[in-house]
Amino acid sequence: MKKVFGLIFVVLFIIAIVAIYKLFFVKDVKTVLELTEEEKFYLEDVRIFGNHMNISGCADNILDGDSSLVLKNDDDEIQVDSKFTNSGKTCFYLSDKNNEGINLDELKTGKYLLLVKNTVDEEESFYTIENTTDYKTLEYYTITKDNKNNKIDFKSDIDEKLNKNYIEFDIKETKLPNDVDVYDITIDPGHGGYDPGSTYTLDGKTYNEADLTLKVSLEVKKELEKLGLKVKLTREDDTGLYYYGDGGRADIPNDVKSKFSISIHLNSDYGTMSYGGVEVYTPNDIDYDLAKLFANNIGSIVGYSKKATDRIDNGIYFQYFNERDIESSKEEALEKGNKPYDIKVGAPYMYMIREVGGAQTYAYVDGRNEDVGINKYYNAIQVAEPYLIEIAYINYENDLKKILNNTDEFGSAIANSMKEYLKIS
Ligand SMILES: [Zn+2]
Repeated sequence: MKKVFGLIFVVLFIIAIVAIYKLFFVKDVKTVLELTEEEKFYLEDVRIFGNHMNISGCADNILDGDSSLVLKNDDDEIQVDSKFTNSGKTCFYLSDKNNEGINLDELKTGKYLLLVKNTVDEEESFYTIENTTDYKTLEYYTITKDNKNNKIDFKSDIDEKLNKNYIEFDIKETKLPNDVDVYDITIDPGHGGYDPGSTYTLDGKTYNEADLTLKVSLEVKKELEKLGLKVKLTREDDTGLYYYGDGGRADIPNDVKSKFSISIHLNSDYGTMSYGGVEVYTPNDIDYDLAKLFANNIGSIVGYSKKATDRIDNGIYFQYFNERDIESSKEEALEKGNKPYDIKVGAPYMYMIREVGGAQTYAYVDGRNEDVGINKYYNAIQVAEPYLIEIAYINYENDLKKILNNTDEFGSAIANSMKEYLKIS
């Protein structure tokens, strides 16, 4: 008998604990949903670039008063930095820069509704947003910190009883098992195998770019892993990679859901320009905070390149297709019997930036030329934020000696940039 009472007591105790936990700790969105006005907002665009989500949408009319975007549940109301416009109808957007918007790594766990908060004469009302984009669900794993990740489920649903469409952020802590192919950063050692890249002979020994980019990339990986980040290399030895498709160099960063992709290269010129130093190549339409950290930290080892073409700032470059580039690319394709691609003016020139960045960087390798293959992510809206760093010039002896003798400094420079950008303590 005693044993039975003991068991009943244990069961009741567990039920009580669960009830208390639910009452005090489970943040719900259902009661918030009941309090919202009849929906009139529509989500028209959603993208994830690196660790930021960008969204925009409109109402079907003009709303009076002040509007803002919030993530809301029973306990919390988080302001989303947003801009509202009122021409013809009320619309909202977050940023015209690809790597700005909601910093997904900074959201706390919990369930939240994405709502428009409207204030007229100090009277607050909330509106749900109907997701009219093609992307009803998205999944994001946050950057690894203290061996933990949060998984963010972006969901679009309808409450049949209330007849309300809504967008929910469901954020849970997860311990990513090591065998899951989700990484924080992809490091791509340029060239390899059939493609040695540029070469230079110093003191009778010939060095090639493929070997040196691997040497540097291994240092970068080691330093990033010291910060607790999960790092994927596109190659770990002197293998030649194809560009597109499964295992293709441009597909790997997105195959492993990495948030950042950094291609490591060494530059080379005719030796008469006296360029030397670092060149950080970036995607289009971004905030340059991370690029600046790369340029400054690597620049403190080898200096900024003196090359002026395509330069945005010290050590920061954006190389893009202009009309003439597009015309010559078309001619070249036709000569080879290929179908010319639809290239947008302003698309990043380097494929490890343009194709990795998907729709947001105007990727175009859509499979129309079978021998080239298809970039699975050419029209993807959730992609890694891509950079290509020409860390120094192989044919400047000062630069080459630094790469040979101070390889670890390049690893620290890149790792410290990520550390500062991602606020890793
Ligand atoms: Zn190269």
